[in-house]
Amino acid sequence: MPISTRTNILATLGPASDSVEKITALVDAGVDGFRLNFSHGTHESHQRIYDIIRQVSKAKNAHIAVVADLQGPKLRIGLFKDEKVTLKKGQTFCLDMKKELGDETRVTLPHKEIFEALKVGDKLLVNDGNIVLKVTEAHKTSAVTKVEIGGVVSGHKGVNLPNSALKISPLTAKDLDDLDFALKLGVDCVCLSFVQRASDVLAARKIIGNKAWIISKLEKPQVMDELDEIIEASDMVMVARGDLGVECPIVTVPVLQKHIVSRCRACGKPVIVATQMLESMIAAPMPTRAEVSDVANAVYDGCDVVMLSGETAMGAYPVETVQTMRGVIEQVEADPKYYANIQSKNQGIYCYNEAHAITHAAGEVVKTLSSIACIATFSVSGLTTLVMAQERPAYPIMAIIPTEKIACQLNLVWGVRTFIDKKVFESFDNIEKVSRGFARVSGLANNGEFIVVTAGYPFGKVGSTNVLHIIKAG
Ligand code: PEP
Repeated sequence: MPISTRTNILATLGPASDSVEKITALVDAGVDGFRLNFSHGTHESHQRIYDIIRQVSKAKNAHIAVVADLQGPKLRIGLFKDEKVTLKKGQTFCLDMKKELGDETRVTLPHKEIFEALKVGDKLLVNDGNIVLKVTEAHKTSAVTKVEIGGVVSGHKGVNLPNSALKISPLTAKDLDDLDFALKLGVDCVCLSFVQRASDVLAARKIIGNKAWIISKLEKPQVMDELDEIIEASDMVMVARGDLGVECPIVTVPVLQKHIVSRCRACGKPVIVATQMLESMIAAPMPTRAEVSDVANAVYDGCDVVMLSGETAMGAYPVETVQTMRGVIEQVEADPKYYANIQSKNQGIYCYNEAHAITHAAGEVVKTLSSIACIATFSVSGLTTLVMAQERPAYPIMAIIPTEKIACQLNLVWGVRTFIDKKVFESFDNIEKVSRGFARVSGLANNGEFIVVTAGYPFGKVGSTNVLHIIKAG
């Protein structure tokens, strides 16, 4: 049985961690899901890692989630005649769609959509915001800019346009190819990068259906205009602080993070806080004080998942990093103020149907009865479990479900321990028997302790949480 805290860890895999031994050690250290970053690697390398994750999960009797992160429309400049150029503050620099290699005066920007959207006064950020260009003339296939912040820039560097909503889908031709591959592989979740509007998520949903959860990566400022709609359209959300900190003034990232986490909690959608959480551990065995505080802060806010990127993909201390992150989570969750703090934020939760009413009642029952051990949620789609997790109860939530994929998805949800039983929905008697059985084998309940059960009746019907039942373990 894997380590169980309420907050989960998603670790990105890469050259530092792509063997059976490393993936096993990462699971032992407390990883709940792995991210395959499709900005790197080949289909063959992803297939190999995917097979290892499934093999390790099976050996550990765990439901480790596999997340495919699509690159999305990462915009890039072309190459220079020399490897790099130095741009000076105040100089003029042109961007165009010509084929020639660039120099100190111009470079190719092979994205017509950018020129269609640019207006005089807009800013283009090159190389993670290290170079800032301000548009002085905007044409159909070119733009003249003034260098506001100069420096050295080499070919193929990324370009961000914080002020412009581009008419591009978050799924490029490469993404569509990767998505087809990832879905055939059987991944549990797919991350959409650079989502701009809820319609982007709905368009992806047409292709993905319910073959995988859609995780919308929020990394552009305009998502704040349609935040609730984007959250509603997604299965999960990621605060992708890397690009967010380039697209928005970096000092605004903590406020945006808190706001997004709080809206996700109110809407009952799981949320991931990502990027640079323990960045210094890429090279050092100890993190900084600020980094451990950052992880703790996200956990105190009640996020479902904290994510590691370069730390586990290419760092020198991948296992130590997960151990450190797990240690921080354990410390926060052991703080007596932790539950009071996250439950105090439950007030904003929508309570609009019988599922929420039953679940809210279950949340109250566990506060009232003594000798509660755990909560058992019986779910076909995962919804009964998700609504329970939204309450952030102080007891473990068992998700008892018939399918492996949903077990892996729910493995990323706050407070949830997943169990599979294909025949569970046959009768009330069976529900009692199965709850007691899983609570006993997992060590979640001792004889005589209470298990609070939520389920939907008629059994097996999606979206009908309407049963609240209290049983004694034994
Ligand atoms: C991010 O920008 O924070 C992020 C998670 O995306 P990526 O790692 O793909 O850059």
